[in-house]
Amino acid sequence: MLVGVLGGGQLGRMLAMAGLPLGLRFRFFDPSPEAPAREVGELVVGSFDDAQALDRFSAGLDVATFEFENVPLAAAERVAGRVTMHPSPRALATGQDRLSEKMLFREVGVGVHDFAPAGSDAEVRSAAATLGLPLIAKTRRMGYDGKGQKVLRHEADVAVCWAELGGVPLLLERLVPFEREVSVVACRGVGGEFAAYPLTQNTHVRGILRESAAPAADPGGRLGEEAARHARRIMERLGYVGVAAVEFFVRGGELLANEMAPRVHNSGHWTIDGCQCSQFENHCRAIAGLPLGPTAARAPSVMVNLIGHVPSAAEVLRLPGAHLHLYGKAPRPGRKVGHVTLVGPDAVAGAERVAALSPIT
Ligand code: AMP
Repeated sequence: MLVGVLGGGQLGRMLAMAGLPLGLRFRFFDPSPEAPAREVGELVVGSFDDAQALDRFSAGLDVATFEFENVPLAAAERVAGRVTMHPSPRALATGQDRLSEKMLFREVGVGVHDFAPAGSDAEVRSAAATLGLPLIAKTRRMGYDGKGQKVLRHEADVAVCWAELGGVPLLLERLVPFEREVSVVACRGVGGEFAAYPLTQNTHVRGILRESAAPAADPGGRLGEEAARHARRIMERLGYVGVAAVEFFVRGGELLANEMAPRVHNSGHWTIDGCQCSQFENHCRAIAGLPLGPTAARAPSVMVNLIGHVPSAAEVLRLPGAHLHLYGKAPRPGRKVGHVTLVGPDAVAGAERVAALSPIT
């Protein structure tokens, strides 16, 4: 079975590393000839608005998917017109727009903090007056790793917000004084079967995920069950096939949904080493119509993202229970170049050691 993946980044690379042993083969589409997935499958290099390149990519595929949620919708729709795509372009469209995500959360009864869209300078001012400060303004589209965001604490921030964020449609949200951030990674098969991974606790530094620890502290398992229920409702509403992640703030012991990712997710990387069947394998299984695999954790795990810096492999691998994953990317400030997952009783101490060995640049 030949799987086509829009995007050839590290997520695509890890999908292929999980799918090859299942008998799947991979073809990637990416604008860069240096895409990290080039080492694990065929790479079609082209721009997402090049219809001919997209058609060359689609020819002969059995199923298509995407690993990057900012794939232009028109490109996904063109491919989906020729070959079955999981998840659907509709799920991609929802995940590309912070407002659509929030409306979907509300529609299916998932708790969210107050928000308002703003399509002009005047609307920013009136939304700020209605919601009250402090707020966080986010571009509705194309934001990731904390980019396209601005915290509004004073009237002066409100006055410059529209211009500073580039004069594009925004979502204004109340700034949540959360206790912690958690996420659930879940998978839905073509027949509607559903599986969720243990709740994961995430730590961000300057808007970029630095660390994910799983299973998250969750006395009685209440939050994990609720997060899985929420993910299931969202995925059922979208007729979703494949892996998705939903990120939440925990406030007063309750979950508030922040955003969803219609793809395998960084907060699920620990599942490669810490779970019986990883998020990457389960995404492959789901889109190929195969039975889903077990999602239970093997042992407590902590994943540390390597951001802008590649540590010495020997020093990392000396740590008990350490698994090193490098993406084949040149280090640049703020760029995720790999991750380390520590599995077992020493995971927390090991993660501290990795963070010291590989400072964020
Ligand atoms: P996002 O791109 O929405 O995931 O935001 C990146 C990070 O910014 C989140 O993981 C939070 O740490 C922080 N953040 C985003 N939205 C809010 C909010 N409404 N209140 C407080 N912190 C936020």
